Amino acid sequence: MQRSSLVIGGRKVETPSSLGVINPSTGVVVGAMPLATARDLDSAISAATKAFAAWKQTSETERADACRAVAKTIEAHAEELARLLTLEQGKPLNGLGSRFEIGGAVAWTRFTSDLSLPVEVLQDGAEGRVELHRKPIGVVGSITPWNWPVMIACWHIIPAIRAGNTVVIKPSPLTPLSTIRLVELMNETLPPGVVNVITGENEIGSLMSSHPGIAKVTFTGSTATGRKIMQNAAGTLKRLTLELGGNDAGIVLPDADPQKIVEGLFWGAFINGGQTCAALKRLYVHDSLYDAVCDELVKYASQVVVGDGLSEKSTLGPVQNQRQFDIVSTFVNEARDKGGRVLIGGNPAEGPGYFYPVTLVADVDHGCRLVDEEQFGPALPIVRYSDVDDAVAKANASSMGLGGSVWGTDLAEAKRVAGRIEAGSVWINKHGAIQPNAPFGGVKQSGFGVEFGVEGLKEFTTVQTVFC
Ligand code: NAD
Repeated sequence: MQRSSLVIGGRKVETPSSLGVINPSTGVVVGAMPLATARDLDSAISAATKAFAAWKQTSETERADACRAVAKTIEAHAEELARLLTLEQGKPLNGLGSRFEIGGAVAWTRFTSDLSLPVEVLQDGAEGRVELHRKPIGVVGSITPWNWPVMIACWHIIPAIRAGNTVVIKPSPLTPLSTIRLVELMNETLPPGVVNVITGENEIGSLMSSHPGIAKVTFTGSTATGRKIMQNAAGTLKRLTLELGGNDAGIVLPDADPQKIVEGLFWGAFINGGQTCAALKRLYVHDSLYDAVCDELVKYASQVVVGDGLSEKSTLGPVQNQRQFDIVSTFVNEARDKGGRVLIGGNPAEGPGYFYPVTLVADVDHGCRLVDEEQFGPALPIVRYSDVDDAVAKANASSMGLGGSVWGTDLAEAKRVAGRIEAGSVWINKHGAIQPNAPFGGVKQSGFGVEFGVEGLKEFTTVQTVFC
């Protein structure tokens, strides 16, 4: 069983109590999460505050080198991290699973190391010189979810420290072990206190978001929690980046080729068993090729192997936890009761493990939760449309606005339709393909602020204008 400690000021800190961490493939306890107290949180924030005094003075080159060293260490421990991640998260080692996630964490870390925010000269003439400087903010509180815990931890930590901040991270209580190990590895090369990890139940996140020692919270998780964090952060006017839930729509235009798009559609929806913020969560298909697209999706889905993540044969793992499993089951059953036609899946076998089969539900529409809400699991509703304007209106009939996609052969037309979707990212003939140089973030109630690239780095700074 994995024994873990907090990491505060570069040292491992034991806690008197801990909580079991479950392998979602088996239901067996595989590790113990330390239960941090409010006092542990205070000491992590003090360590980060102390480290900030020196870290913010380091040069761009020193910080870039330090982040590159972190990438190297993660890479050297990639297989160890991937196995730990699979054990607690459930995702397979292979395919778009744990090895892919750790590889992504390394790639994002390297790319972000090389970014910089040089001084901008806004004016330099007879009337004087005006410069725009970017300053680190202070101690950043990072709160992460259970779906891509290692990659998201790097998305939070690396730009924060690259910009000169220090960090206290709090992972999800469902997947804390890989983040603790990640932070231990980071501490092999970073100065003590630059990155600290605190674990515990949701209450610790709540304490973090109101703590006066934290200057900014960067949060990835549900919209409901995002709202609470915003309320808690109001007392100290913390800076916030909120990457929240999504209910991404994909629109298949009448000129799409079902055979060509099926693989992209499938993995756009089912990457990580659908437990991905910007996964395709509602599919709108034109009447003229509705049956053909459904047939291709069923054919593709039937050769996917759902199984224990530790098996090299599995291409998808279980749902990560009981609560999410229940949401997916309830939404699918409700869709079926309302006339939805289950094309494949829909009937999970008895445990152990939270295995839910790949599920496609046709002939559904708005008015059932599988379409209207975020299912965050391996079940895709397929809605029939006959008028593109109606499809766009339905895609936009959501309080969420994370991503969206359009599928078709005429790229100019697809781009025109994509431009009408209310979302922070839109893709043509693919879905959810994020990259480290392209800003990513939500509109509407999917949050605010962006991650990645120079725009993402700026989120970890404040502006100081210097008039010389
Ligand atoms: P969640 O909101 O339940 O939990 C996320 C984190 O917040 C956990 O660490 C949790 O302990 C903590 N938390 C819970 N209550 C808190 C509180 N009151 N104050 C502070 N912290 C608190 O989300 P989840 O179930 O772990 O993740 C799934 C959700 O995350 C989905 O909605 C998904 O779309 C979203 N998500 C969004 C993105 C994105 O980039 N937009 C990426 C991944 C996941």
